[in-house]
Amino acid sequence: MTTTTLLDVAPAAYRASVTYYDGTTKEVEMSAAQADALIDTDLLDLAGGGDVKVMPDLATGRITVVRWCTGPRSATDSEPVTASMTVELEPLHVPKPTPTQYRSLRIVLDDEGRTYGPKLCDGRVVAGLAAIPPSVTRLLFARGWLRLEPYEEDGVPVERVVVSYAGRVAMSRFEHRTSTSCGSTDYDRGDGVALHGGWTSKAWCSCRQWRCHVPADRQTVQRAARGHREACLRAVFGLESGPGTIPVDVGAVGV
Ligand SMILES: [Zn+2]
Repeated sequence: MTTTTLLDVAPAAYRASVTYYDGTTKEVEMSAAQADALIDTDLLDLAGGGDVKVMPDLATGRITVVRWCTGPRSATDSEPVTASMTVELEPLHVPKPTPTQYRSLRIVLDDEGRTYGPKLCDGRVVAGLAAIPPSVTRLLFARGWLRLEPYEEDGVPVERVVVSYAGRVAMSRFEHRTSTSCGSTDYDRGDGVALHGGWTSKAWCSCRQWRCHVPADRQTVQRAARGHREACLRAVFGLESGPGTIPVDVGAVGV
């Protein structure tokens, strides 16, 4: 019996709600591979100047794609109209990995660019010298955070394990957790005279690449912190220049 018969490598990862150009709607479930193919096509169209918008949502991991199309209203009416088609990809699993799951995704992502990429072997993902245990492997596939992709190594067709967009969204959310604090910076200069330093708010991110310190209320830095996390999420899809996913230290966690 092979590994792939024991392990469901393409379970449903999203509920896709489609609203077609004519207003009709449909709901289907999609695997991570199907969703990634759809997103990649849209991103390619976008890069080519197509009238497409890809919008990842920070709070839920939902990805909304809108396409616009302009053409004659009908065969007998040449008046041009613009219609849109919307696909909402709602993840079936909350994109909130544990440190162990994050570290496993990081191992796979870091290994994807190598000549011989990550593969499934005896129910575990083998990536270079690292191996992800079967229990974690099964869970990462069940969530749709890992998927298989056809590849060619030395002219031989193989199936590589890759981190899906759903997995990379989960990684980005894990890497960028922000905190805020605010308070008065009044201080005693040492001789009992209190000096007024003003009211300041701070925000910082767990990625240690971003911080913000302003003489304003908490809402200002909360907005800035949200802006940082949204920019990092958009970078996952190449919609913004930024770090995309960057390694964060999760301490000594076994995988
Ligand atoms: Zn960050």
